[in-house]
Amino acid sequence: MSYAIVLLFFIMGESIFPQVDKYVADRNNMIKIQIIDRGITNAATLRAMKKVPRHLFVPKEYENDAYGDYPLPIGYGQTISQPYIVAFMTEVVKPTEKKKALEIGTGSGYQAAVLAEIVDTVYSIEIIPELSNESAMRLNRLGYNNIFIKSGDGYNGWPEHAPFDIIIVTAAADEIPKPLIDQLAENGRLVIPVGKAGAIQELMLLVKKNGKIEESRLTFVRFVPFKRSEI
Ligand code: SAH
Repeated sequence: MSYAIVLLFFIMGESIFPQVDKYVADRNNMIKIQIIDRGITNAATLRAMKKVPRHLFVPKEYENDAYGDYPLPIGYGQTISQPYIVAFMTEVVKPTEKKKALEIGTGSGYQAAVLAEIVDTVYSIEIIPELSNESAMRLNRLGYNNIFIKSGDGYNGWPEHAPFDIIIVTAAADEIPKPLIDQLAENGRLVIPVGKAGAIQELMLLVKKNGKIEESRLTFVRFVPFKRSEI
């Protein structure tokens, strides 16, 4: 290639490739320091989080903070979870390519995107209609065609698409919604923060084996509350 053409590419680089991702280094740092160094080893989880552009899931004013070690506000009093928590919850549900997942609490759509990089299909329910619309548009723009979002109270799950191999709840409930346990497939894994809003909550893992539920407590967390729609 002649010098002139190389120079032209150099000058026009930004406009020819508007998708140039200036956060690659930040994202790689996040993976190394916040996630691998804290013990996450699942290769699919690491690969997915290395790929998903987290800065496009937060409001513009927080873009520079998107790879920080904390949750961030996404409007309507809600938050996008801290990267480590997303990694932890993703690893613990053992995602693989043929699985079908349900998420309750779409929020920004980030957790749904991370899952969708790995599994076959993700269904996600969000109770705040504005967030549900925004995340559906965002995920569509980013090319995710294996994520289906609906607006509503996720307490009753999504029976039309059950059973699910994976259920991730990203809002803290006082008790584990029974319909979600019913919609868990054999060998399915459900992860949910349990506890009162504002208090310390416990992240619980439920695994269905021979139709029976095995429950374990994983760690302490702090999530926004699981809301119920007016009945
Ligand atoms: N997974 C999200 C985190 C969102 S925070 C992300 O990756 O960004 C939790 C979300 O759960 C909030 O957006 C909140 O509105 C939603 N939520 C709370 N109760 C709910 C319910 N009963 N059904 C569906 N969504 C709910």
